[in-house]
Amino acid sequence: MFWNKKMETLQGDKLAVLQHKRLTWTLHQIDKVPFYHQRLKEAGISAGDIRSLEDVEKLPFTNKKDLQGGYPFGFLAVPLNQVVRIHTTSGTTGKPTVVGYTRQDLDNWSELIARNLTMVGLAEGDVFQNMVNYGLFTGGLGFHYGAEKIGLTVIPSATGNTKRQIEMIRDFGVTAIHCTPSYALHIAEVTEEMGVDLPSLKVGMFGAEAWSESMRSELQRRLKVNAFDSYGLSEMYGPGVAFECPEKEGLHIWHDCLLTEIIDPKSGERVAEGERGELVITPLVKEAMPLIRYRTGDITRLIEDGCPCGRGQKIGRITGRSDDMLVIRGINVFPSQIEHVLRSLPEVGDQFMVIIDRINYLDEMTIEVEMNREYFSGELRDLAKVQHKISSALRDVLGLRTTIKLVEPGSLPRFEGKAKRVIDRRGQLW
Ligand SMILES: [Zn+2]
Repeated sequence: MFWNKKMETLQGDKLAVLQHKRLTWTLHQIDKVPFYHQRLKEAGISAGDIRSLEDVEKLPFTNKKDLQGGYPFGFLAVPLNQVVRIHTTSGTTGKPTVVGYTRQDLDNWSELIARNLTMVGLAEGDVFQNMVNYGLFTGGLGFHYGAEKIGLTVIPSATGNTKRQIEMIRDFGVTAIHCTPSYALHIAEVTEEMGVDLPSLKVGMFGAEAWSESMRSELQRRLKVNAFDSYGLSEMYGPGVAFECPEKEGLHIWHDCLLTEIIDPKSGERVAEGERGELVITPLVKEAMPLIRYRTGDITRLIEDGCPCGRGQKIGRITGRSDDMLVIRGINVFPSQIEHVLRSLPEVGDQFMVIIDRINYLDEMTIEVEMNREYFSGELRDLAKVQHKISSALRDVLGLRTTIKLVEPGSLPRFEGKAKRVIDRRGQLW
């Protein structure tokens, strides 16, 4: 099923012509932002120098620090009276990033969400429960308006009160849910404790965190949903930037609205076709906050081969954001890698917590792991065996020695929004 078949399946020259036209428009739009006006002047480039899509490489990058430096409204290309909504990022690393939307921007955003929801088989008649924060976080209102656009029955349940959420799924005959994968896991756990069935549920859309294939299998098995990965970032509207189709071999990124590149994060050069690197996006139709070559910090690859569903370009699943990456004794570790290993072991329960210390100048990683109730005999000899099994599985994947501390099922914290599974207690080195 398609929401906008013409745009979703546009290819070859027709796509390139449209992208170039929209890129040219975007360059005129960014010229209204003093930061870009200055930066392009310094680089000696004007919109007229961008004669083909390839010329986008001549343009300078934009990064998160630039946006933070423009706080609050330095990146708006329209007067504030044309901005009908503002979202901000959480600002956990410095000043928050402020994102403004014109009415047209909101329409375009809903259009992208509508394409995603239709792509996974949702349509009028489906009942959709949106279990994410409805505040400044873009996942709430973003999904909400896209779902209304295609005529789903929307329940804006937001987060919290997990038992009530489950009762609503059951009582309202909810067919589709959207939340973080960590919250979905908690929903599964509480549903099992309550001993209820949720037979109407068929689709789960999970995003805002990197999550693994073993997490997918677990969520599909325990919630009996078809689980899809959703990717987005506030700087490009929010969720809806890329989404899995039923093939689940990568996420379609909406090529008529977003121009993508993959670069080597160190050199800034483009990588060879199909290679992994940092995703860089130039949005092509943003009015209020146009950007050029925005460095997402997310590591992925482009998949250009035709998808059996008929749609175009895809990106590989994001295995970790550079913000989440841990450097332990010089080795790069993503929490999603740890999660993937743990979820593949039947002895492991629902939650884990990673604690990093620096002892005698050495990084030490301790992982507290909840045991699966069925394996929790309490016999010390059995526990030692499980501990050993987990640490060798992790060593094989991460190339690191870890200390495993087994804890009782249900003893670690649960999360309604984005999970916080890492406690880094290392001080600054210098
Ligand atoms: Zn597809």
